[in-house]
Amino acid sequence: MTVRDICSIGHPALRIPAVAVPEAEIAGERVQGIVDDLIDTMRHANGAGLAANQIGETDRIVVIEVNDNPRYPYKPPIPLTVAINPQLEVLDGETVVINEGCLSVPLRGDVARSVNLRVRYFDRHGAEHCHEARGLAAGTWQHECDHLDGILITDRADPATLCTWEEFERHHRDAFIERITRFVELVGS
Ligand code: ZN
Repeated sequence: MTVRDICSIGHPALRIPAVAVPEAEIAGERVQGIVDDLIDTMRHANGAGLAANQIGETDRIVVIEVNDNPRYPYKPPIPLTVAINPQLEVLDGETVVINEGCLSVPLRGDVARSVNLRVRYFDRHGAEHCHEARGLAAGTWQHECDHLDGILITDRADPATLCTWEEFERHHRDAFIERITRFVELVGS
């Protein structure tokens, strides 16, 4: 496992839509190596998730894990999930505005996300999974899968809400945490 460099906004890899991994290649050394590096790099950077584009790879692979995350203390835990060829289905019209950050973008901003999703993907052993994701977990899935399509939070955020982490902490953090904590209590995730 290797901690890889994370591409920053402006790097072309972030804008190239990733390519589906052939099922027969999932067990192979190349794909397993990318999965290992994604996990290691995400944990090293305290990310809630990481997509293959962010380390310069072109495969449709994301990893997600939330566990007492210092970057996002209000996020309920999500066990380590490796998702190969993930597909999201929006289940209804309910949305929530989430202030998001990204390891590839030095800003945070408000993004409207669907609250209720069905997610399908293969894990690193090639087993197929299908389950529902709600609330902030659903937001994390949408953020990571956006990366696979070459989309960044700066494309989706209300431009007037973009701010540095420092100014977020100073001026917006308390109000956001109060609102999102109420939302998490309501939705349960
Ligand atoms: Zn991101």
